[in-house]
Amino acid sequence: MKTRFRNRVVVVTGAAAGIGRQLCLRFAQAGAWIAMLDLQHEPLDALANQLVSKHNTKALGLVCDVSDPESVRGAFDRILDQFGGIDVLVNNAGIVHRSAFVDTELEVFRRVMEVNYFGSLYCTKAALPSLVERKGMIIAMSSMSGFAPLWHRSGYSASKHALHGLFDCLRVELAESGVQVMMVCPGFTATDIRKNALRADGSIREEPFSWIGDVASAVDVADDVFNGALKGERLLVLSNVGRGTRLLYRFFPRLFERLISARLSDVGDQKS
Ligand code: NAD
Repeated sequence: MKTRFRNRVVVVTGAAAGIGRQLCLRFAQAGAWIAMLDLQHEPLDALANQLVSKHNTKALGLVCDVSDPESVRGAFDRILDQFGGIDVLVNNAGIVHRSAFVDTELEVFRRVMEVNYFGSLYCTKAALPSLVERKGMIIAMSSMSGFAPLWHRSGYSASKHALHGLFDCLRVELAESGVQVMMVCPGFTATDIRKNALRADGSIREEPFSWIGDVASAVDVADDVFNGALKGERLLVLSNVGRGTRLLYRFFPRLFERLISARLSDVGDQKS
């Protein structure tokens, strides 16, 4: 088990910060070769250098907008050229908006869906032939809002629900191929995602910091994802709040809507 990812090629989107960055470090510690996609050039380069010098592994950082199919195709061609194949694809890149549906511009819904949903779809399309050849694994970063409504997150929640629809179907289609699919629903995690949250008009604003329940570190989330991948899990719901939400919303949806959504609006709209 411990050597499962040694010399395996792991592609992580949204790799320059937050959970994606820690995933790169965690898989590199296990001896994986890491290909990283992100919009941010400098942190990608710095991380690639760190992986090579400190973790003694192979690393490739590529500037790529996952919502642009041409950019994705070019990046995956480079990865396949350089590493010869892909064993694990982590669809992690994501953005959030914080705004009431009624106020939110159509372009905001479209942008969130383009990055969170279509970005994952494009990367999966590009990686799939190699993943099938190598009997690899697809990991998709969802959220609590992938299975329950959250306050002022209608576009974000829709994009995460869409991921479950896409990847649950794909898992069935890939059943005979040996490719595994794991959905991950982190709870509140201390990253900078709120700093890049979209407002109703599409501008970016930093949200004040507040939360419900435990706050995980990106390191802990990356550890859990890595261990889940080792075990070949189908679904990881990572926090106690997330697990409670899942049960409560499934069996007592009206109670959930009253308790949790009101609580989320009370604490200043922070949960993603
Ligand atoms: P983050 O903002 O810290 O990092 C996201 C990274 O994605 C950034 O480096 C950013 O540059 C990159 N990115 C954004 N748009 C991109 C694009 N179009 N193409 C390529 N890269 C792009 O966010 P995070 O908190 O680490 O979130 C990672 C994933 O986890 C997201 O899918 C998010 O929805 C999910 N998630 C986060 C939390 C949380 O509380 N932080 C909770 C549940 C789920």
